[in-house]
Amino acid sequence: MTGTLYVLATPIGHLHDLSRRALEILGRVDLIAAEDTRHCRGLLNHYSITTPTVSLHDHNERDRTPTLIERLKQGEEIALVSDAGTPLISDPGFVLVQAAHRAGVTVSPVPGPCAAIAALSAAGLPTDRFAFEGFPPRTSSARQSFFRRLLREPRTLVFYESSHRIMACLRDLATVFPGDRRLVIAKELTKIHERLIPTRVGEAQEALDDPQLQKGEFVLVLEGAGAEAHDRLTEEQRRILQLLLQECSLKSAVSLAEKITGARKKLLYEEALHRKAK
Ligand code: SAM
Repeated sequence: MTGTLYVLATPIGHLHDLSRRALEILGRVDLIAAEDTRHCRGLLNHYSITTPTVSLHDHNERDRTPTLIERLKQGEEIALVSDAGTPLISDPGFVLVQAAHRAGVTVSPVPGPCAAIAALSAAGLPTDRFAFEGFPPRTSSARQSFFRRLLREPRTLVFYESSHRIMACLRDLATVFPGDRRLVIAKELTKIHERLIPTRVGEAQEALDDPQLQKGEFVLVLEGAGAEAHDRLTEEQRRILQLLLQECSLKSAVSLAEKITGARKKLLYEEALHRKAK
């Protein structure tokens, strides 16, 4: 009999969001593999839990996994936790969980807080289908290309963003997506300064204009593309097409614009003809 690896969710702000089952498991396992042991100790001390911890983060996960798997195979029980929320969701743990499955070790989730799901559940945007896109790239050009690939995605989109990049991210969203797309900015969920700000892509930078509002942790929940998104070009797509028309033939401009912007060829072709006729 192998032991069990528990993938255990911890609070994303409010300490009371730790489930009873999670508490009981944290108290009884042989070891807690934590993204940051000092951070984890804060939570454990709050609940007077004295279980030993070992660090498991992006930089040591590969090295540490074989030892942890060996202990699990010997029958020990280990809980995997990250700094906040559900491990593996934009957090470490993938290498260990994958290795546990390969080694035939029992892996068991202990579900609980996850910022993406918390934001989605309260955003008031369609939840029947959604796509979690994690953190957008850090540079503006990479971020815009990333958003462009999602322009026609019909599902509600969920992004994570830090306070350092939130304004730049909102600016790039407004560059790529139509201004009237609904957007909910979920900030500091379950914490004292929790805010859910329903806005639109074109008004989002203004909605977060106050520097106080730009602090903390953010989830962005963006409405998916409706049917109308397939029938019109955005300002950015028109601008790129116009630039290309100045440099190359109509056919090449349309073909390049399709590759760059992801817009439909038929729409680009109609727009190009319209501009040439002017
Ligand atoms: N594993 C975590 C989870 O289940 O949500 C996510 C970890 S990821 C490294 C951290 C990001 O999650 C933050 O930058 C922010 O985008 C989001 N996040 C975490 N806690 C949050 C909170 N209380 N309010 C809003 N966003 C939060």
